[in-house]
Amino acid sequence: MITSDVLADAQRRLAGLPRAHFVNGAFVSSESAAEITVLNPATGASLGTIPNGTTADVDAAVKSARAAFGDWSRRTPGDRAEVLFALADVVDANRDLLAAMESINVGKPIDAAVEEIPVVSDCLRFMAGAARTAQTPATAQYAPGTMSYVRREPVGVVGAIVPWNFPLMMAAWKIAPILAAGNTLVLKPSQLTPFSILALVDLASEILPPGVLNVVLGRGSDIGDALSRHPDIDMVALTGSTRSGQLVAQSAAATIKRVHLELGGKAPIVVFPDADLDAAAETIVAAGYTNAGQDCGAATRVICHSSVSDALAQRLVSGADALTTGDPAGPDAVQLGPLISASSRDRVASMVEQARLDGAVVATGGEIPDGPGFFYPATVVTNVASGTEMAREEVFGPVISVETFTSESEAISKANDVDYGLASSVWTKDQGRALRVTEALDFGTVWVNAHLVGATEMPWVGFGRSGYGRDNSIYALDDYCRTKHVMHAMGEPEGVNQFTSGPTKKDSDD
Ligand code: NAD
Repeated sequence: MITSDVLADAQRRLAGLPRAHFVNGAFVSSESAAEITVLNPATGASLGTIPNGTTADVDAAVKSARAAFGDWSRRTPGDRAEVLFALADVVDANRDLLAAMESINVGKPIDAAVEEIPVVSDCLRFMAGAARTAQTPATAQYAPGTMSYVRREPVGVVGAIVPWNFPLMMAAWKIAPILAAGNTLVLKPSQLTPFSILALVDLASEILPPGVLNVVLGRGSDIGDALSRHPDIDMVALTGSTRSGQLVAQSAAATIKRVHLELGGKAPIVVFPDADLDAAAETIVAAGYTNAGQDCGAATRVICHSSVSDALAQRLVSGADALTTGDPAGPDAVQLGPLISASSRDRVASMVEQARLDGAVVATGGEIPDGPGFFYPATVVTNVASGTEMAREEVFGPVISVETFTSESEAISKANDVDYGLASSVWTKDQGRALRVTEALDFGTVWVNAHLVGATEMPWVGFGRSGYGRDNSIYALDDYCRTKHVMHAMGEPEGVNQFTSGPTKKDSDD
């Protein structure tokens, strides 16, 4: 349990953090005097400023990553694993501090922030081990008179651009596989939430070889774009909105750099009449309002059989109304914090207004409360019509919408009627139906009778406009490797061919 003392300490340490880029193992000032003010979303108060970096800052960071690449890429996987294990230990040893910083900067309830930190260290540990057991096809004579093998090589210097909703977790999902595979990187955190990564590199500065992990601060349109275009960056990885993914891919096209995109989502939760409605409602409330709904896989688009939709909606409304809302740093434990910014809150409010105009019913919530901070209440919207904005667009706020269906095929077609393809779930006790529906759903993750349960060993990947980059699992490691085929001509054998003549009697007796 995090106490008010830990929060106060985090606040002090946050105020004392260097507001600078981290390049070649040290904090360095920006070339620019331009600054960005970072806010506490629960109060709207300033948490201080960070520099909005320049292309010269990006050049310096890329140079440092390039210089470090030679040594880092030639280290054995085991040596790299030791560094990642040590970094994971630093994360775990500072769990409460890092969680408190996330809570203050993102506005997330402290218990939720505490749960995220072991996910960060687990990813580092998983990738440390996975890099030591990487697989390739068998070395063999695939063409006559030759011997082939595959070298798995790092791609080079990677630019990684991450969002604000899970600042350290999203950063770790890039840092761990990128470094484990032998690459070096330049990371750009969201300008809204730079503090936890600054704290981590500060704490780990003795562990990471200089230049292996560099951090440049600034806006996406400046620093993110400069990373995407940079001629000496070999690959760019983004977790962010579909719009940012399109811009990154466009900017990366000029240099044909490899692009890894984890983008937005609009997860359907398909509930059949035989589902355990209590369990479904409990999970939807937990996975829909977690992080104030600001989760790319959030359980916010319920598609429910019409015979049970009223019963489910009632349970959702009760669950929404029971949540305690407030400043996570306040005296009471809260389950729902603010949205990240005033503009996010206003966008969510306008989407709910549009849903009303489109004929939906706001069953609870739906009004911006008075007072400081960027709060929006836990909201349930029913009678949502197919094809409307509420049914198809990512809200990224604490709004659960309910649509209905009357047949399995209608449920599937409604669920798939989005451009996104990140996450989904199906709720039924009928195993045959579960198998049919999971096959038909066009999403990178399908849960059955669950939602938003993660596993580092399993891939997190989108289809369609949710992108195609894979986070977590050995597939993420693959994404940050290149494969080189090496083929040796073996020449003609001299004398007896040992491979075809087999062992002699004497050899086998030995
Ligand atoms: P965003 O796209 O606004 O920002 C993400 C990052 O991209 C930030 O660091 C931002 O500065 C940078 N960026 C913005 N414009 C850029 C540009 N032109 N070039 C390069 N970089 C640019 O997204 P956000 O608001 O920070 O995060 C919310 C979005 O991220 C949602 O759509 C959410 O679904 C998505 N998301 C996806 C996943 C996933 O795993 N698929 C995880 C978390 C968030």
